[in-house]
Parts: sequence; structure tokens; C-alpha cells
Amino acid sequence: MLVYDAVIVGGGPAGLNAAVVLGKCRRKVLLFDKGTQRNLASNGLRNYLTRDNISPRDFLKLVHGEIKKYGVVVKRAEIVHAKKMPTDIFLVRMKKV
Ligand SMILES: Cc1cc2nc3c(=O)[nH]c(=O)nc-3n(C[C@H](O)[C@H](O)[C@H](O)COP(=O)(O)OP(=O)(O)OC[C@H]3O[C@@H](n4cnc5c(N)ncnc54)[C@H](O)[C@@H]3O)c2cc1C
Repeated sequence: MLVYDAVIVGGGPAGLNAAVVLGKCRRKVLLFDKGTQRNLASNGLRNYLTRDNISPRDFLKLVHGEIKKYGVVVKRAEIVHAKKMPTDIFLVRMKKV
């Protein structure tokens, strides 16, 4: 069994932002993402400070470069089950996508 300080389910802007913050705080982080970010169909992000019009895929590339620096582990998989154990540890079960 692998143990991390934090498991993040979802690699959209919300999950990636959490990964940057926790990674910077030197937490051991594992992020799961099945790769269906809502804005992938868009030709560019709007009104995002310093990154206006950047394509969603280029944005993801930038963020993944950043979280790598902090040692965040990223897995392309779907979390299909999560359970809080009496010891306050969460067990998650994944399915490859
Ligand atoms: C066409 C379109 C254009 C947009 N344009 C803009 C814009 O220009 N500017 C702007 O500010 N906002 C825009 N938005 C809104 C913006 O995309 C959303 O606010 C943002 O994507 C929400 O981020 P999120 O991380 O919450 O969710 P999402 O981007 O949806 O990411 C969630 C991620 O979690 C993954 N996931 C979900 N469940 C699981 C699971 N069980 N296991 C593993 N992975 C899982 C999904 O695969 C996905 O990759 C747009 C939205 C759309 C649809």
C-alpha cells in the first residue's frame, strides 16, 4: 500500500491548484486525473491573469511542469471508490483509463 499526505481526485484547474499549493508546502501528493477537463473544447482560456487566450492544453502543460518541480505524482486513472478508515487514512481505488 502506498501512503501519501494528500490524494487529489481531478486534474482540472481546481485539483492542479491544490497540487501546486500542497506541493509547495512539501506535502507528498498523488493526483489522479481521467483527462476530461471541462474546457478542453475551448480554443483559449479567457480572463485568466497573465495567461489570457492560452489554449487549455498549453495551460495543462505549464501546470504539469510546475507541479513536477514539487514532486507531485500524477496518474492517469479514475478513482472509483474512496473510504475513510478509522485511523483517518483514506483508501482509494482506481481504474486505469
Ligand atoms: C467550453 C468551456 C470553455 C471555458 N472557458 C473558460 C474560460 O475561458 N475562462 C474560465 O475562467 N473558465 C472557463 N471555463 C470554465 C472552466 O473550464 C471551469 O471553471 C474549470 O474547468 C473548472 O475546473 P475544475 O478543476 O473544477 O473541473 P474540470 O476542469 O472539469 O476538471 C475536473 C477533472 O477531474 C477529473 N475527474 C473527475 N472525476 C474523477 C475521478 N473520479 N477520478 C479521476 N479524475 C476525475 C476529470 O477527468 C477532469 O479532468 C470553460 C468551460 C467550458 C466547458
